[in-house]
Amino acid sequence: MKLRTLDDLDVSGRRVLLRADLNVPLSGRAIADDLRIRATLPTLNELLERGATQVIACSHLGRPKGAPNAELSLAPVAGRLSELLGHDVPLAPTPTGPAPEGSRVVLLENLRFDPGEEGNDPAFARKLAALADSYVDDAFGAVHRTHASVVAIAGMLPCAAGRLLEREVVVLSRLLESPDRPYVAVVGGAKVADKLSVLANLLPRVDRLLIGGGMCFTFLAAKGYGVGRSLLEKDQIDDVASLMGTAGGKLMIPTDVVVAPEPKPGVQKRIVPADEIPSDLAGYDIGKETSRAYVDAIRAAKTVFWNGPMGVFEVDDFASGTRAVAAAIARGNCYSVVGGGDSAAALQRFGYAQEIDHISTGGGASLEFLEGKTLPGLVPLQEGFDPASSR
Ligand code: ADP
Ligand code: MG
Repeated sequence: MKLRTLDDLDVSGRRVLLRADLNVPLSGRAIADDLRIRATLPTLNELLERGATQVIACSHLGRPKGAPNAELSLAPVAGRLSELLGHDVPLAPTPTGPAPEGSRVVLLENLRFDPGEEGNDPAFARKLAALADSYVDDAFGAVHRTHASVVAIAGMLPCAAGRLLEREVVVLSRLLESPDRPYVAVVGGAKVADKLSVLANLLPRVDRLLIGGGMCFTFLAAKGYGVGRSLLEKDQIDDVASLMGTAGGKLMIPTDVVVAPEPKPGVQKRIVPADEIPSDLAGYDIGKETSRAYVDAIRAAKTVFWNGPMGVFEVDDFASGTRAVAAAIARGNCYSVVGGGDSAAALQRFGYAQEIDHISTGGGASLEFLEGKTLPGLVPLQEGFDPASSR
């Protein structure tokens, strides 16, 4: 895949709309991790150095569902961006402006405050396009979404991929097209419904698929085990069962799990075999035996892709599985790529982030890219794309 990049876009003397992924994890109103803000700085600075008159940055934050919501304002992000750039970054009052004057970098308010964003509404996209002369997409974490600031707008202005998006696609293309083998994928986390559906396409591409986190219980249920009060996607049990039927020896699912009444510090917890989860408890981490097996599989790998924690790693009592997997990936002799906000946060927390070859800013997007899917946000950025043909 060949994307048009900043090298192909003339920005001097132009106003540039920069779609960034500033969807940072928050704890209350504070930014818990500013990785995504820092990751977009190279593109922002390059646009300024190359003479853009104004960079109008925009992003979504959380899930406000099409209505303004003070708790999901991008104000804290504008504040952090101001600190990082060393000058004031004013925030526009709405997602469609007006763009504040007098500052070379401004930020629009949360795009998802307007229903037009998630609706991929051309009228909303036109309002965004009217603010600028060129469009740069650096939001890898959003390219799998058919949203107005990602898809509809791209045909309305001269467009290119930013440096972060460009690097993400280069790294993930290597995993998609020519991974050193064995290639092991480790998938967990809580966005179970979204992630389960990509596994069928991922499986043929990898040599091993290790399942943990909230999604493993749908696999255990598909084997006929009771999963107590664990996370479960009932309507995907049949699909998961047929996936298991075709997986050969590639698929690894937990043989033991850590169960407790709730994922709180200091609760009573114990490890049980995966087919003996008590009906009144839930699984919040993979067990020791499972951790050991997963670590062995990771040690044997030449390429590892990891998305989604193995358990509720935010609570120390349920962090062991995630910690063991993170350590094995960091110390292993493999090319390592990790995607997902929470997986990246887990690496930071355990002190392994420096040892990972590439930390992707997109969790869902990286998974969908690696299953070989055409991501809607990348289509208009490809060389030779003709906007007229897409309407
Ligand atoms: P990522 O951001 O890396 O893509 P997700 O957002 O899908 O990952 O999932 C991260 C969340 O999954 C974490 O907050 C973690 O606490 C939660 N989680 C992991 N395992 C379980 C489990 N067994 N039950 C409930 N939540 C879980
Ligand atoms: Mg997450």
